[in-house]
Amino acid sequence: MTRTHERDISEAHAREGARVLAALEALPTGLSDREAADRLAKYGENRLPEAPRRGALVRLLSQFHNVLIYVLIGAAAVTALLGHYVDTGVIAAVVVVNAVIGFIQEGRAEQAMDAIRDMLAPHSSVLRGGRRKGIASAEIVPGDIVLLEAGERVPADLRLLETAGLRIDEALLTGESVPAEKETRAVAGEAPLGDRHGMAYSGTLVTAGTGRGVAVATGPDTQIGRISGLLQSVETLTTPLIRQLDSFARWLTLLILLVAGLLLAWGYYVVHMPFGELFMAVVGLSVAAIPEGLPAVLTITLAVGVQAMARRNAIVRRLPAIETLGSVSVICSDKTGTLTRNEMLAATVATSRHLFAVTGEGYSPDGTLRLDERDVTPGEHGVLVEIARAAALCNDAALHPHDEGWRTEGDPMEGALVALAAKISGDGHEPFADHERLAEIPFDAAHRYMAVRHRSVEGRVETHVKGAPEQVLAMCSAQRGPDGAAEPLEREHWTREMDAIAAKGQRVLALAAVGGEGQDSKSGGRPDSGPLSGDDLKGRLVMLGLVGLIDPPRPEAVAAVAECHGAGIRVKMITGDHAGTAAAIGRQIGLTNPNRVLTGNDLDAMDDAELSAQVVETDIFARTSPEHKLRLVSALQAHGLTVAMTGDGVNDAPALKRADAGIAMGRKGSEAAKEAADLVLADDNFASIAAAVREGRTVYDNIKKVLSWTLPTSGGESLTVALALLLGMALPITAVQILWVNLITAVTLGLALAFEPTEEDTMRRRPRPRHQPILGGELLWHILLVSGLFLAAVFGIYFYATDRGHAPELARTMALNTLVVLEIFHLFFIRNIYGTSLTWKAVKGTPMIWASVIVITLAQFAITYLPPLQAVFGTTAVPFFDGVLIVAVGAVFFALIEIEKQLRLVFRRPEAQAE
Ligand code: ADP
Ligand code: MG
Repeated sequence: MTRTHERDISEAHAREGARVLAALEALPTGLSDREAADRLAKYGENRLPEAPRRGALVRLLSQFHNVLIYVLIGAAAVTALLGHYVDTGVIAAVVVVNAVIGFIQEGRAEQAMDAIRDMLAPHSSVLRGGRRKGIASAEIVPGDIVLLEAGERVPADLRLLETAGLRIDEALLTGESVPAEKETRAVAGEAPLGDRHGMAYSGTLVTAGTGRGVAVATGPDTQIGRISGLLQSVETLTTPLIRQLDSFARWLTLLILLVAGLLLAWGYYVVHMPFGELFMAVVGLSVAAIPEGLPAVLTITLAVGVQAMARRNAIVRRLPAIETLGSVSVICSDKTGTLTRNEMLAATVATSRHLFAVTGEGYSPDGTLRLDERDVTPGEHGVLVEIARAAALCNDAALHPHDEGWRTEGDPMEGALVALAAKISGDGHEPFADHERLAEIPFDAAHRYMAVRHRSVEGRVETHVKGAPEQVLAMCSAQRGPDGAAEPLEREHWTREMDAIAAKGQRVLALAAVGGEGQDSKSGGRPDSGPLSGDDLKGRLVMLGLVGLIDPPRPEAVAAVAECHGAGIRVKMITGDHAGTAAAIGRQIGLTNPNRVLTGNDLDAMDDAELSAQVVETDIFARTSPEHKLRLVSALQAHGLTVAMTGDGVNDAPALKRADAGIAMGRKGSEAAKEAADLVLADDNFASIAAAVREGRTVYDNIKKVLSWTLPTSGGESLTVALALLLGMALPITAVQILWVNLITAVTLGLALAFEPTEEDTMRRRPRPRHQPILGGELLWHILLVSGLFLAAVFGIYFYATDRGHAPELARTMALNTLVVLEIFHLFFIRNIYGTSLTWKAVKGTPMIWASVIVITLAQFAITYLPPLQAVFGTTAVPFFDGVLIVAVGAVFFALIEIEKQLRLVFRRPEAQAE
């Protein structure tokens, strides 16, 4: 192809692009905000309609679809047939209350998930009124100019106007797994989707390069909208552990029903009890034993956890992450923006002869360069102007004035470079805006540089590069002298400067230019059209200078790292940055081993065995590329560690998937990383990871607490009935009374534990081994112990009462109240499974705890002293002294189990410390 031919084609493209823009009444600089708002009203939001939800009635009815409810409905029918209408009524009440609680809780859980989905709504960059602007993807309208970058999902169907190495994975639409290369050339209208390389389709994933295009269709009008038409359905609120417990509850139910059947046979054929009474007793036993409230309470526990994490800026994308987070033993974190603030400020500039200090604050374009305590003018140092051009033009960021100073749109480091260029050139916050970009190589974490070819108004064409200094230096063959002339490259000088700047904890960036350019292309110089490739740069670069950028550590990250260390969690930094910078920041952050740094090259030189030997004790990995992350995760996992790994780029996705808990950055993270992650940090902050771990541990503890409270309670109640049946004696608590207790505790005590706050020492314990069973020996022992004590106390009070000659009604009422008092004391005990329950804080409880205690106390007073309830439940007023006795029994019970716990803790502590 001749060059003229090439130009013809490119002009044809330009015409074509202009035609598309004209058809959409759009401009290359974007719509105005007003026009965009009008179009939003006209075309609607850019989102796919949601799949219809189950209606409220269906949700309510589905609450009745449950084995226990079937048993209860059957029991209600039998009691009605037997003419025990009071029992029928009570059973019906239990059924209805259960369904209503389930219904309300499910609704709340769904709300929690909805709120979280909204927090994950994607954002896009568009041009509005000529300025780059981040907006919610839902606000994109036809005619908007959308900017694409690697890692993003294309937010709408776009006609591409500009591309640079743009590749898009369209598997979603075409099933083609190899990313399609995109360009701006038009194709015939009837070309199949996969061949329309001038289009980018909504929902497909940008895997490399950058581009911009004009939105031609949004929302349901897009290709994806026409195919699927609906958003994917709602995730149900469950995790492997919860599913396991659900199925445990189902099998337990079957076991209980079997035992109940056997007891029914025993009572009828062996003990010869009258059927009606016997049947009710067996129903009471079943209701007592079956942990019917458990699944609902566990779901609520999860929902509370999800919400608590969201409040701490950790958005759970996949619910099993809640469990995994609680057992994390290593956190591998990015440096920039996660451990540091990602508020960059160019502080030093090194040239071939001088080291300049830069003054100024934040992203403000005001400031100066100083040499030897004196402001310098660019006139004195010609090379500075070229440094400014390279800094400003190899750049996609923009500075905007704001009420409280200056803000940057785009990469903060690039924002800092614009500010630097503004300080040098002195022409405002948009320096060198008159240059036109001709071609670029976008930044990629794998090659670590960015290159831009541009043309000034005078027609001078130049190519500038900015990137990691080692990379840039390797492509250089000369350097710019103080007078602007090229001179031989002094590698040692640059390496020395680089290390010196990095040692201060500053991020170092090199700026370079392609040598031998600069002619006006129109008079026949180098070709200014056509793409730019790495080969155009290799060995042809002229080093201009180094820029050192400050990025201070986040103070809250320092605290969070210390907290993680206290919690037995190792924190590791994995960064693309220079080893010296990483080590300096590692020291400031308080990593355990900041002086040992492995670089990506070191990792490449190691085999898996050697890496495995080094990986645990090394805390800093520098100049790594995304593939290294995957190796590091695997190496750590091979040590049996539970690994949390952060990531933001499109190439981080495999490591995020591989990690036990993949964590993506909500702000700077790509859509690809977010989709691969289990957790998304709304603020990109390391402290939020620590908070998520804390919440993860809390949720696990609370699940354990719910089980530790529910199972012994069920056990104690059902053993009481079973024992009485086996012995053929009168029940110390009647069946309707058991139903009452279940009804009233299910809405109060049983639920309170789902809302338990974090225990004080939660982040001072070592991580829980990943596969430790929740129904372990300790919990089994607790169930046996407490069931036994319940049994002893209830029978004890009952026998004491009959012994004193109390009427059977009074004896039963006392036994019933004893049971409830024990449950309350047990609840207070369970709240502190790791510490002592005898602190002021423990007694003070939470509003949730006291609300339940008050409700249940009032309910017990009502059933004991109100005549209508007495009539229904066969209760009678308890004399004052006996009431005190009942509470005293509760206190003794509490003392017993607390002492037993302390004895166990005494023997556990030294072992825990020795680990
Ligand atoms: P980090 O782990 O600190 O986020 P990155 O992978 O983002 O590191 O970057 C690695 C290195 O690549 C940086 O130290 C810097 O030298 C270079 N770099 C980062 N962003 C850009 C960019 N936009 N243009 C050119 N070079 C960059
Ligand atoms: Mg980065």
